[in-house]
Amino acid sequence: MQIQADTRRCVGAGMCALTAPDLFDQSEHDGTVVLLRPDVTGPEAAEAARHAVHCCPSGALTLTD
Ligand code: SF4
Repeated sequence: MQIQADTRRCVGAGMCALTAPDLFDQSEHDGTVVLLRPDVTGPEAAEAARHAVHCCPSGALTLTD
């Protein structure tokens, strides 16, 4: 499973970094998402990634198999 983050859509809400800090961080410059691990391996990381995608208010995050 892979995560894509569209920084043009990201509004810097930070929900992704709060819900899945192993996968996401935020730019110190403008608060937009920084993808730490695009490749998601293991059930725990997959669940965290799905939760982050669900929580993102701007639809900036997508998952692909
Ligand atoms: S939750 Fe969505 S809008 Fe907020 S920082 Fe993450 S990607 Fe950006």
